[in-house]
Amino acid sequence: KKITIAIDGFSSCGKSTMAKELAKKIGYIYVDTGAMYRSVTLFAMRHGLFNADGSVKTDALKQQMSNIDITFKFNEKAGRPDTYLNGECVEEAIRTLDVSNHVSPIAAIPFVRAAMVARQQGMGRNKGIVMDGRDIGTTVFPEAELKVFVTASAEVRARRRYDELKEKGMPADFDDILKNVQERDYIDSHREVSPLRKAADAIELDNSHMTIAEQNDWLMRQVEQ
Ligand code: C5P
Repeated sequence: KKITIAIDGFSSCGKSTMAKELAKKIGYIYVDTGAMYRSVTLFAMRHGLFNADGSVKTDALKQQMSNIDITFKFNEKAGRPDTYLNGECVEEAIRTLDVSNHVSPIAAIPFVRAAMVARQQGMGRNKGIVMDGRDIGTTVFPEAELKVFVTASAEVRARRRYDELKEKGMPADFDDILKNVQERDYIDSHREVSPLRKAADAIELDNSHMTIAEQNDWLMRQVEQ
């Protein structure tokens, strides 16, 4: 019987790496909800919907929400879904530090969250889904059969994001990344609507000292139990 699996946690803690791998292994659909908030952010950046101080032109964004269409298409070669914004593949464009620096204020806006959560719940209607984000176990699927909350020290997480960007040949500065990780942690856990927190029934995993293989094995064991 297929279940719903919710993986939440702080920025760059390896959630998507484990969620993606698990989905592949057990034949479930994988949804990266961070990619959805990042896509809205990219749209807002391209349409001049940010003020100079980094705050969002909320009314203007609200009027544009119906023009933002986010979809996923499985990329056979990469073995994971690519994110599309209004038909354009934005998988790379949404991963820049510039987008990371703008995303948390966007994700704090109630009408943005309501729209994303509704879409996410639609995608999980038939179960057989692994979804990662910040509020999956608390808000999107409070009834999920398996909930995991991933943590790791900010330094370890910044190092991983740094290595990942370097590997892709994208520009990266460790101190800038660490600052971004800490700022997003703060904004994400202090916003009014669905702040980042561990669901009461989630299993916590601190993967600071685990390899990717170890965390994948750990997650598989949770599924098998
Ligand atoms: O997971 P990722 O780091 O790509 O998420 C980017 C940002 O999107 C987070 O820092 C957070 O502000 C927002 N987010 C969220 N709720 C989710 C997923 C992501 O608020 N379920």
